[in-house]
Amino acid sequence: EKFKGGLTKTRQSFASKVNNLVKRYRKVDEEFFEELEEVMISSDVGVNTVLELIDQLKDEARTRNIKETEELKDVIVEVLSGMLTKKDEENELTFNPNGMTIFLVVGVNGVGKTTTIGKLAHKLKQEGKTVMLAAGDTFRAGAIDQLEVWGERSGVNVIKHQEGSDPAAVVYDALVAAKSRKVDVLICDTAGRLQNKVNLMNELEKVKRVIAREYPGAPHEVLLVLDATTGQNALSQAKQFSQATGVTGIVLTKLDGTAKGGIVLAIRHELDIPVKLIGLGEGINDLQTFDSDQFVYGLFS
Ligand code: GDP
Repeated sequence: EKFKGGLTKTRQSFASKVNNLVKRYRKVDEEFFEELEEVMISSDVGVNTVLELIDQLKDEARTRNIKETEELKDVIVEVLSGMLTKKDEENELTFNPNGMTIFLVVGVNGVGKTTTIGKLAHKLKQEGKTVMLAAGDTFRAGAIDQLEVWGERSGVNVIKHQEGSDPAAVVYDALVAAKSRKVDVLICDTAGRLQNKVNLMNELEKVKRVIAREYPGAPHEVLLVLDATTGQNALSQAKQFSQATGVTGIVLTKLDGTAKGGIVLAIRHELDIPVKLIGLGEGINDLQTFDSDQFVYGLFS
C-alpha cells in the first residue's frame, strides 16, 4: 500500500495516460503506437528506451496477432516488467556471506544520500544485523552532524573525523572499529560536491582502494543515490559515476514526489545497473527494496 501510495503521481501521469489511450483507440494501429511513444517519453522513460519498448511491443502484437488495444495492455505491462528485471535476484543487495559486508554510498549533494544511509541502517537493524556508519563526507558543512542525527535515530554508531579531514582515513578507522566490534554491515558515506568532479572521483577511488586493500572483494556494493525528480539529469549523473567508480546498484529517491517514475526504466535499460532500493518519503521507514513486478503492476493496477 505504501508502495502504491508513493507512486501515485507516476501512476496518475503515466499509467492513466496509457489507460486513456487504450480506451480511445480500441484498435492497435500505427497512430496508437505513436501516441504511446509520446506518453512514455513525457514520463521520462528516455528516448532510446522508449524506441526499444515500442519495437518489442510491435513484435509481440504481430506474433500474437493482437488487434485490440485492451489486449495489448497486458503485453505492455509484461514488456515493461521484463525490461526492468533480467533476473529476480539482481535487485537484491549483495552481502558478504563470510564476514563483514561493506557498502559505499555515492551521489551528488541533495539527492538524499544521508537520508538513505539513515533509512538503510534502520532497515538492516530491523533485519537483525549490526550496523556502523562511516562519516566519509568530510567536505559538506553539516554532513557529519546530519549523519550523526541519523545514527541516533536508527541506533547505530557513527565513526567520524573533523570536517575537512581525509575521507579515506575516516573509512580506514571505521573499518578497524567495525572489525573489532564484529559489525555485520559498515555503510560508508562519501562527499557529493560537484564543484570539482575530477577531484571528487579521485577521492571516491581512493576510498574504494582503501576498502579493497583491507577487505579483498569489498566494497560489496557501490550504491549510487539518484533523485527521481531530476528525471533525465539523474541518468547523466549515473553515467558519470558509473564510469568513474563502478556502480553496482542504484537507490532512486523521492519517487513519492514525482511523476517521473519512468526514469527507472531508462536507468535499467541504458546503463544496465539494477535499481536496488527506492525512497518513498522522508521518514525512517520510507526505504524499500525494489521489486520490478510490483513496480510495474503497481503502476497499472
Ligand atoms: P544529501 O545531500 O544527498 O545527503 O541529501 P539529504 O539526505 O540531506 O536529503 C535532501 C532532502 O531530500 C531532505 O530534505 C530529505 O528529507 C529529502 N529526501 C530524501 N529522500 C527522500 C525521499 O525518498 N522522498 C522525499 N519526499 N524526500 C526525500
